[in-house]
Amino acid sequence: KMRAEIIAVGTELLLGQIANTNAQFLSQKLAEIGVGVYFHTVVGDNTERLLQVIRLASGRSDLVIFTGGLGPTQDDLTKETLAGHVGIGLETNPEAMERIEKFFSQRGIVMTENNRKQALVLSGSHVFSNDFGMAPGMAIRHDSSAFVLLPGPPSELYPMVENYVMPYLTDLLPEKQVFHSQVLRFYGIGESALEEKLLDLIEKQDNPTIAPYAKEFEVTLRITARAATVEEGEDLILPVEKEILSRVGQYMYGMGENSSLHDVLVSRLKKSNETIACAESCTGGAIASLITSVPGSSQVFRGGVVCYTNEVKNQLLEVPDSILQTDGAVSEKTAQLLAEHVREKLGATYGISVTGVAGPDPSEGKPVGLVYVGIATEGMPTVVKELRLAGRRQAIVGRAAKYALFYALQ
Ligand code: ATP
Ligand code: MG
Repeated sequence: KMRAEIIAVGTELLLGQIANTNAQFLSQKLAEIGVGVYFHTVVGDNTERLLQVIRLASGRSDLVIFTGGLGPTQDDLTKETLAGHVGIGLETNPEAMERIEKFFSQRGIVMTENNRKQALVLSGSHVFSNDFGMAPGMAIRHDSSAFVLLPGPPSELYPMVENYVMPYLTDLLPEKQVFHSQVLRFYGIGESALEEKLLDLIEKQDNPTIAPYAKEFEVTLRITARAATVEEGEDLILPVEKEILSRVGQYMYGMGENSSLHDVLVSRLKKSNETIACAESCTGGAIASLITSVPGSSQVFRGGVVCYTNEVKNQLLEVPDSILQTDGAVSEKTAQLLAEHVREKLGATYGISVTGVAGPDPSEGKPVGLVYVGIATEGMPTVVKELRLAGRRQAIVGRAAKYALFYALQ
């Protein structure tokens, strides 16, 4: 089995100015193809310390992936240092040089000499072109290790990995295998609660592997099988998927990589030829923003009202003053009327509303995290859900918006 490690180069990482998200991304990608990552190292822009790290890594890993330090400046020294370690020189890669020259001439800026440095690659290396920047990536094999060098900016690294590095690494693997995965998407259950319910499966996992992760207030589970063919992979995944669904199926709302709650909601409404409108108090437009982030949402999204004040709830969305005085703005009744009225006024099939206390201070004597979500449907009784959300203001807003989308999907 291939043993990999990741070395992130950059003093700004050590200073805590940025987080090492490249290592996180690379680890996830390597897990998908069954490559075990045994170390993450962060080292500053310093030749001597980088060399120490390279020596250690090449002694213990089959695959060493570097990120950062491929740029034009003095402190970018990853390839120079590795070249010194493996005793291989640097040469100019003509395609990269051409890209760099073109970049400057198209923008009418004079290229400084240090930019030529970005076109240098280790002699005899396999070059990964940089479609979103200037410094190319590269891979070189030396002794029993493979070294892969990638640029630091995530906007350059991610597409390079997806398009060029993954195919290269898959070719490097000893047996020809396919990696087939199924992504299950959950809401209304935390990452740790989900993991707890599946702990025995996760602990004895081997093939397929089960990896839960939380992102943007949603939880995703990736089941990945190693097999000779896709069909075989599917056969390995199916029983595990069934077992997972029998335990936590009620929280699953979708499958697949690019299927966040808002993606699934928009595509479902498109299919059924239905529309939606929203009235948002504490989420301040977060729901509208999520929905409109989906291409083609104009077919299903009628519009939304950010009804932050009681006046707007009352004057625009006709929640009676008496209700706002007695029940309060954060109440079941207000959520119900907001959802019904925004649906009627904007002429949608569904109206969603959110009203709650995002904090940091309580409001109307109600605790931080208390949120009501209303879902009004043409010709049906309105459903109102009460939530008690934990976390800070931003997390409460984010979760409340996702809950509203989740309930709209029920
Ligand atoms: P550049 O050509 O931009 O100088 P580079 O390959 O030399 O690219 P660095 O100079 O190390 O890379 O980093 C450039 C930027 O990329 C950093 O300022 C940071 O925003 C981002 N970056 C670098 N390393 C990481 C990392 N490990 N995780 C996330 N972002 C990173
Ligand atoms: Mg740099």
